[in-house]
Amino acid sequence: MIPFLDLKRINEPHQIAIQTAIERVSQSGWYILGREVESFERQFAQYCQSDYCIGVANGLDALTLVLKAWNFPVGSEVIVASNAYIASVLSITHAGLTPVLVELDPQTYLIDPTRIGAAITERTRAIMTVHLYGRCCDMDSINRLAQRYNLKVLEDAAQAHGALYPSGRAGNLGDAAAWSFYPSKNLGALGDAGAVTTNDESLARQLRALRNYGSSQKYVNDYRGHNSRLDELQAAILSAKLPFLDQENNRRREIARHYLRELKNPAITLPPADQITQDVWHLFVIRHPRRDALRAYLHDRGIGSDIHYPTPPHRQKAYPELAQLSFPLADALHGEVLSLPLNPALTDDEVAYIVDVINQFT
Ligand SMILES: *Cc1c(COP(=O)(O)O)cnc(C)c1O
Repeated sequence: MIPFLDLKRINEPHQIAIQTAIERVSQSGWYILGREVESFERQFAQYCQSDYCIGVANGLDALTLVLKAWNFPVGSEVIVASNAYIASVLSITHAGLTPVLVELDPQTYLIDPTRIGAAITERTRAIMTVHLYGRCCDMDSINRLAQRYNLKVLEDAAQAHGALYPSGRAGNLGDAAAWSFYPSKNLGALGDAGAVTTNDESLARQLRALRNYGSSQKYVNDYRGHNSRLDELQAAILSAKLPFLDQENNRRREIARHYLRELKNPAITLPPADQITQDVWHLFVIRHPRRDALRAYLHDRGIGSDIHYPTPPHRQKAYPELAQLSFPLADALHGEVLSLPLNPALTDDEVAYIVDVINQFT
């Protein structure tokens, strides 16, 4: 069986460094907001070419805390893609704001910048750019719009660790970027973890307080904050893995290039191949009109796969207020997408077998 994702195998090359990190924290006697978090924040900010990094508990909190820190008036709107992950939309409503869904570009599966203008109202305050599947959104167009209408830009970079864009790196392409280090992400912890990167010093200061009860000085509370701290153990593990992220992303690119070259089944739509070396291939997502049959066929031949995602946000029970809206592109996508195994631990033989099996599907 080739599982869709084998985290034990993915973390295998890091086991010794992870054990050393765990031992160091365990022996230190200091477990929350200490040297390990500071050190990871410094390294990850540098990696993203941004001035500040603030470690938080997870990716959803990273998004939510930034939106809260911006302190928009009640009823403000945030624009986000119609096929965003549910956490992106949850963060908007958790911050007391209104999500405004905009359809995707069917070539890239990312928010279509040409449709954003029509969605902007006098209540719009921000655009959330979800770099879905490991590819950066069209940030030049989006930042131009944001500038014209005086909007903030929040990158949801939870699937884009290390992704490149002509003007820089994911994490430094808007006003702030939210990261998740959930174990399955390109840079994954051994539990929940997240961060925000930004060049805005005052936002960074607010976030440091907001993640820790709204306090920058013990027992002095300037904001009604959260408990959303990145812990020392996860920070130490992330520091051990970060130096290998680029190398692992390159292995992902190698596998993606192979899939793109060798998958020849005419019923399959492949992901965009024009930015192989900028994308970080968090997921390799194909489309097939009989997706469920293809998935069952792969399963019967020992190949795991997954669906990202089966249901778009406007069809979720959690958001009855979005149910009336129509997003045909998002609906079509969610019925056809299938994610193939793609991770740095996959062998060439496994990739070749997957290609063979898919090319024989009729
Ligand atoms: C994983 C993910 C999140 C949420 O991160 P958590 O750490 O699980 O809270 C948000 N947005 C996107 C696009 C994600 O892939």
